[in-house]
Amino acid sequence: MALEEYWRKRKFEKTPEPKGEVKFAGKSRFVVHDHYAEKAGHHHDFRLEMEGVLKSWAIPKLVPEEKGVKRLAVQVEDHPIDYINFKGIIPKGEYGAGEVKIFDKGNYKLIERDENKIVFELKGKKLKGVYTLVKLKGRKNQWLIFKAK
Ligand code: MN
Repeated sequence: MALEEYWRKRKFEKTPEPKGEVKFAGKSRFVVHDHYAEKAGHHHDFRLEMEGVLKSWAIPKLVPEEKGVKRLAVQVEDHPIDYINFKGIIPKGEYGAGEVKIFDKGNYKLIERDENKIVFELKGKKLKGVYTLVKLKGRKNQWLIFKAK
């Protein structure tokens, strides 16, 4: 199951995050969370609705809004679709402890996808335009994200 790792990392009696389930909603949405994590500090969590889950990447230096700027994006466990509306405070001592806010959300259009590359157009309020996520060779879970020139 795609959400096992997500469920295993969290105690749902302690965190306000949704337990969720795999859900094929037939939509193509994205969300970017502002996550003020106690451990990792402020970063973005970028999520694309795909295959009934939210494919997710942590972006330590935030999603680039300027064309051509490349930023590291570390793929993390798939999150449930319900997480698209999540905001709140993950309590101290729990996985991802800290405040989570929604930076932007909207729809996206998939342009190209294979196992090492995803190209898509974001149609958010703040983030608009064609973005690419490309996997770094030989590095587990490490990708780059950039906006097309
Ligand atoms: Mn995070």
